[in-house]
Amino acid sequence: MVAPSHDEIVNAPKALLHDHLDGGLRPATIVELAAEIGHRLPTTDPAELGQWFADAADSGSLERYLQTFGHTVAVMQTAEALRRVAAECALDLAADGVVYAEVRYAPEQHLDRGLTLPQVVEAVLEGFAEGTARAAEAGRTIRIGCLLTAMRHAARSMEIAELAVAYRDAGVVGFDIAGAEAGYPPTRHLDAFEFLQRENFHFTIHAGEAFGLPSIWQAIQWCGADRLGHGVRIVDDIADGRLGRLASYVRDKRIPLELCPSSNVQTGAAASIAEHPIGLLRDLRFRVTVNTDNRLMSGTSMSREMALLVAAFGYGWAELQWFTINAMKSAFIPFDERLAIINETIKPAYAKLIASA
Ligand SMILES: [Zn+2]
Repeated sequence: MVAPSHDEIVNAPKALLHDHLDGGLRPATIVELAAEIGHRLPTTDPAELGQWFADAADSGSLERYLQTFGHTVAVMQTAEALRRVAAECALDLAADGVVYAEVRYAPEQHLDRGLTLPQVVEAVLEGFAEGTARAAEAGRTIRIGCLLTAMRHAARSMEIAELAVAYRDAGVVGFDIAGAEAGYPPTRHLDAFEFLQRENFHFTIHAGEAFGLPSIWQAIQWCGADRLGHGVRIVDDIADGRLGRLASYVRDKRIPLELCPSSNVQTGAAASIAEHPIGLLRDLRFRVTVNTDNRLMSGTSMSREMALLVAAFGYGWAELQWFTINAMKSAFIPFDERLAIINETIKPAYAKLIASA
């Protein structure tokens, strides 16, 4: 059997559930948008800037890592800039062979130049629609759903949850909370999660990345999260292949884990790709999905993440299909639409790839 190459993986359909809009800008776009508003960057050479982002994310310093978002968020403060960034996001994902993506961002971080929360949401939705249409013209079909994120250190989660529900028929498919885990437990935002449950809406919670099992336990058992953003520390409840009660619950309930291999290594949640718990969690048949998190900061793409796993764990097309179907099953769009993408797009493509390998 020949291992799938990066180029072959690009042409295989993929589904992505965890990708940050402000973590996936093109370096050249940052340079242009920064020039328009007079924002100072570490360098105005796009190649050097891309490297600066990767180096800062690799540095092991949380301070430097967070500085990177200071620059991307700074250039995403007008409707025009948000539309452009969202359109390019759709185009870049489609060019990478992603057929379904949920892209998230925090509307409250884009109000510095006078936009209102609804104006932010509408600009991003317009950008995704434009990018999706341009991708289709180029022969690439992609569907994008939006997740609205509230920052866990702030106090606007209820407002953002209401905003997400208000735009549920316009392309917002879910809600999320993100930001520093330690000291900001998800239970601080219980009212928002209870509201979303009463509205029959979907949400995921960043939990179990920097912080361990208590964060995962709260996200699931107190807040009712449908999925776990990362959730990689669930391995702390597994010893010698034996599952503790929380790990058992997560596996039994098929709670999706949004694992982001390169990002998890950069933040220290995993020592290396080869030592990433994704290998163990897959062997134990958790509902594992593969994601990019921040394509710019990690210098990555869906295809690259999968190619890294192929190299580290010897995965073939069957495993890549399994990750892809796991993600599609766990998406926040309606069941019949998920099924259509699985049966009409994903399965036929991988059947050919598996037969030819
Ligand atoms: Zn994330």
